[in-house]
Amino acid sequence: MSFYAYRDKSRTQIVFATEVTIKDIDTKFYCKNPNCDAILKFRSESSVIKKKPCFFALSSKPHVENCSFENKETPFNKTKYDESLFNFIPLVNEYIQGDVKIIKRRLFTLSQIFFMCKSKNIDAIYGDTNIWKILCDNRSNNIYKKGILGEHLVECKFHKYNPKENSIFFKYPLDDTKNNKYNIKISFADDPELFSFVRRKVYNTNGSPIVIVGNWHWKDGYLTTPFTNKHQVYTPFKKI
Ligand SMILES: [Zn+2]
Repeated sequence: MSFYAYRDKSRTQIVFATEVTIKDIDTKFYCKNPNCDAILKFRSESSVIKKKPCFFALSSKPHVENCSFENKETPFNKTKYDESLFNFIPLVNEYIQGDVKIIKRRLFTLSQIFFMCKSKNIDAIYGDTNIWKILCDNRSNNIYKKGILGEHLVECKFHKYNPKENSIFFKYPLDDTKNNKYNIKISFADDPELFSFVRRKVYNTNGSPIVIVGNWHWKDGYLTTPFTNKHQVYTPFKKI
């Protein structure tokens, strides 16, 4: 069982078990391990046997021996955190100010927030905020009909960069078949060092998820956010 898989054999379209719907019940998915030829099917949540939604390998097409993705549960460990300490909007502002306070047992890293959101349905609440408000991803696309405004983590993909003006462009959402599509532009005009850092981080990610935390607004037809420090971007699946 694993909590994410790929739609295509070339492993460019990642899909999380919590974003698969009933229409994919017969779809074949692929294991993350490129050397594993397992065919995975989706199994929806079951309240009867208390199972989370997941992908499992067909017995006729199992994982290769010692495939590390055979039992890949979500890395989010909820027992480590005190949910009542999670106040989302102040936390986003701490990120933008580059001053994230370390509070014992508070969930605060982008990595853990991302996987927490992926482990839950978008209507669920964590701390003081709904999952769909915390993370704008494929699943919440229908909600964001008029743009993404205010404090959010946005799951997007790299598009291009402009070295003349130190800016980097992204696209939301990952899944091109969704209705509400936005172009994102982050400007690093006064900070070439930060521009280089983020460019190196997001370049060659081949459409895999990039998470940016910000306070979003429109500028010149693009969604943008103040971007002041390297902790505002996270690439969950980038190979090093
Ligand atoms: Zn496998």
